[in-house]
Amino acid sequence: MKNLAILAPRLTTIPIVGTSDSFPVRRIYCIGRNYADHTIEMGGNPDRESPFFFQKNSNNADSSGEFPYPTETNDVHHEVELTIALKSGGKNITEENANSHIFGYAVSLDMTRRDLQSEMKALRRPWEIGKSFERSAPIGEISRVEEVGYIDSGLIELKVNGNVKQTGDLNQMIWKVPEIIAYLSRFYDIEGGDLIMSGTPAGVGPVVKGDQLVASVKELPDLKILVI
Ligand code: MN
Repeated sequence: MKNLAILAPRLTTIPIVGTSDSFPVRRIYCIGRNYADHTIEMGGNPDRESPFFFQKNSNNADSSGEFPYPTETNDVHHEVELTIALKSGGKNITEENANSHIFGYAVSLDMTRRDLQSEMKALRRPWEIGKSFERSAPIGEISRVEEVGYIDSGLIELKVNGNVKQTGDLNQMIWKVPEIIAYLSRFYDIEGGDLIMSGTPAGVGPVVKGDQLVASVKELPDLKILVI
């Protein structure tokens, strides 16, 4: 193999509960408007239309516990989401087989430069600048399926400075996790190392420097973030 001309980019990894092993990140897929009450608050129609996706960069995932307020925005929103970590993948995966590709789950935040996203929406341009930026995907430790089983219901919640801002139940997802995996695999070759952020319940809102965010999903370890 030829020598690399520059230093290889650093692989982004996420801690795993109960082990010193870590999870290497390949891609981050995010589904939009997957809870009806959030779809309504964003001005959409919660009827079951085809799911839509965007991506964050793998190195936007961040387990540091801090979220530096990003540049070029005055309106950064929190979106608490269940993230599914895949151990394997493929194409044209069936819903029946989808769960067999799941490595585990983590609590995450789809941090969003809402002002930039709204501008791009109005211009009918891609959302990337609002969604895919430095450390825009804070994520907690991954719990293995062997420890927590397959998760399809239970409380998902976000507190800001101790006050509940977002709350919902995972069973309110319009597109269920196996459906999301099957659908994604029609369009992409998904692989182990891929993360899927499965959408946010209602109650999204702004954060400011100094805010303490605590995101939780059922028995998964809480994700605690300080906005700096
Ligand atoms: Mn989201």
